[in-house]
Amino acid sequence: MSRIVVKVGSNVLTRKDGKPNVTNMSALVDQMSSLRASGHEVILVSSGAVACGRGAVSPRRQLDSVASRQLYSSIGQIRLINLYNSLFAEYDIVIGQVLTQKENFASRTSYLNQRACMLTMIENGVIPIVNENDTASLTELMFTDNDELSGLIATMVDADMLIILSNVDGIYTGSPSDPTSRLIERVAPGQDVSGNVVASKSGFGRGGMGTKCGIAGKVSDEGVAVIIACGERPGVLVDLVERPETVPHTLFEPNPESLSNVKRWIAHSASFAKGTVSVNRRAAEVLRSDRAVSLLPIGVTGAEGEWEEGDIITVIGPDGETVGVGRASISSAETKMLMGQRGSRPVIHYDYLYIE
Ligand code: GLU
Repeated sequence: MSRIVVKVGSNVLTRKDGKPNVTNMSALVDQMSSLRASGHEVILVSSGAVACGRGAVSPRRQLDSVASRQLYSSIGQIRLINLYNSLFAEYDIVIGQVLTQKENFASRTSYLNQRACMLTMIENGVIPIVNENDTASLTELMFTDNDELSGLIATMVDADMLIILSNVDGIYTGSPSDPTSRLIERVAPGQDVSGNVVASKSGFGRGGMGTKCGIAGKVSDEGVAVIIACGERPGVLVDLVERPETVPHTLFEPNPESLSNVKRWIAHSASFAKGTVSVNRRAAEVLRSDRAVSLLPIGVTGAEGEWEEGDIITVIGPDGETVGVGRASISSAETKMLMGQRGSRPVIHYDYLYIE
């Protein structure tokens, strides 16, 4: 038995005219039901609210992107969830809707609250269907796309696998439409394949292969296997789980040294950072090594922003690059006072430090 998060994009779920693609949805529901029947736990992260709402009204005046996202998602989310509800009801499966937004992951308490909610649903045999709450999300604090959201959910609920369904078979060595491009079947932990991704974005969704690739690398590094595959292939989900060799896909192998849950939360929290500490070259090297070390004041060369103990801060290397993210063990005032000095009190303790 495994716990599987399935992420389906707008392009798989909606037809060109903006109506829900009932054929694809129903095929995916059939497969998720079959996975459930074989004992797997399924969590669905589904886009498609905005795309499904678009065809329903003609706005009376020109709307900006925020207003149109709010309007369309408010209409489309109901259509989407109603469809899922009736499709899953055929299998006597109860679904629950989770509409969430980035703020719900900002503090450890709200993250654990969101986690507890999802775990209670799973424990009670309910399939959570998750989407960003597009009617309420602030533009400056939105998920890049649902790929990012699905990565956060997969690591949060300790999933064994995240399957991202797209409209291509995975990551290619060049453009997927170029016949000389080859599908990359396996990505080893720590291997960077982002250089292969051709910057293009098609259709309705917000994300593209670039973000999928970045998220897949990060999530697999945290210890969850990630698969990118084509959601339109008949039987794709069941095949990926039961006979993966029969279906084209890209597998990002999970790092065998899985991260603790608190580190996983921190890994996805960089956008909530209250400040930054700069570290010298030596400290950056030691932090990036395999050793379990905390960030000590001696390696800190600068501190910007204001934070209290327990807030998220980012660590910047000598060349301005991000080294990691962590939960501060001391306030910004104390950091500024102690930086450059010897002492054993860490600025960020190892257990709360995520190195990029
Ligand atoms: N939350 C958006 C929707 O349901 C989709 C975001 C994305 O494209 O990733 O329409």
